[in-house]
Amino acid sequence: MKKIVVLGATGSIGQSARKVARDIPEHLQIVGLSAHANADELAVAAREFPAAKTALSSGPDGAQRLIELATLPEADMVLIAIVGTAGLKPALAAIEAGKDIAVASKEILVMAGEIVMAAAARQGVKVLPVDSEHNAIFQCLDGRGSRHVQRLILTCSGGPFRQTPREELPGVTPEMALKHPTWSMGRKITIDSATLFNKGLEMIEARWLFDVPMEKVDVTIHPQSIIHSMVEFVDGSVLAQLSHSDMCFPIQYAVTWPERVANSLRPLDFAALGKLEFEAPRREDFPALDLARRAGETGGTLPAVLNAANEVAVQAFLDHRIPFPKIWETVARVMDESPFVAHPGLDELLEADRLARELAAK
Ligand code: NAD
Ligand code: MG
Repeated sequence: MKKIVVLGATGSIGQSARKVARDIPEHLQIVGLSAHANADELAVAAREFPAAKTALSSGPDGAQRLIELATLPEADMVLIAIVGTAGLKPALAAIEAGKDIAVASKEILVMAGEIVMAAAARQGVKVLPVDSEHNAIFQCLDGRGSRHVQRLILTCSGGPFRQTPREELPGVTPEMALKHPTWSMGRKITIDSATLFNKGLEMIEARWLFDVPMEKVDVTIHPQSIIHSMVEFVDGSVLAQLSHSDMCFPIQYAVTWPERVANSLRPLDFAALGKLEFEAPRREDFPALDLARRAGETGGTLPAVLNAANEVAVQAFLDHRIPFPKIWETVARVMDESPFVAHPGLDELLEADRLARELAAK
């Protein structure tokens, strides 16, 4: 029986995590739940798990309440499913308290991957990936280290504009971008999936989780979202992980690892699937991939700057204040104009994040 705290329990990942806990109650107990502002949904979650402590993080002492939950003495693991960078401090607090962390919030590793992974190594705790691509890679690696890896191949649905001609991209609306072809997710990550910044963030996330250089992180478009990612080993063999596109699969594996536990999730029917397709990403039409590669290769404060500028630009697009291509144009410009620190501490990262938000807003 694993006892977990779910930070961001009312979001898309949080709801899937609650579903997993209801599905395998003899293996998983939720002992803490947080939500930011949705008190009604938090109350629903609290009725599902009456023994769990709860916190609403939007109040004046909200940040402190999150840290208290993240360090609950009875918890073995903290699942971080908060959108954006607000999960970073609770993640570090959980690690310092000796808890394993299951990370859905990719922004944490993009912003502070080096610091988080070093803290986890120092404390001897595990960082388990929930993002479906990284969870797939984690399953394929099955404990093998980076010296066995030739290439990590992240699969990408291509998003709603996979086949949209470049000249039509300036006209796409938030409503069009929010219609993801294969996954149902929160608003921010859905826009990131349309620009391919989501895949860009995942490239950087992979670099830290699996300790490989950026040039070994590759992306292939796979419109069916059945293969969640692959590992090509040094001997040329490739392993892939497959399932329906339902986040309950990776969430369950992260929280029950190293066990495999029977559940009620729908199995694949290959005859019904028919075919799996692959194609190269349109790098020139979707600059997010190359911007992220550059940020990941350069390191230092640049990934934090990319992430912060993107968050501001995505919100502006959702508010109908900027056209779609202005998202990556803003990120590119803020990356060029931000001061650079090669080996930042946490305070310098937070300052780079703050400044990038200011520049992006301008
Ligand atoms: P969501 O918008 O549906 O939910 C976000 C959750 O975070 C909510 O519970 C909300 O109350 C909480 N929250 C929002 N702002 C907060 C703040 N400032 N402080 C504390 N809590 C706050 O988002 P989601 O789709 O569940 O995504 C959560 C994270 O998981 C994101 O980082 C996303 O990139 C990542 N992720 C999501 C999916 C998916 O399928 N949804 C897949 C992979 C990774
Ligand atoms: Mg993903």
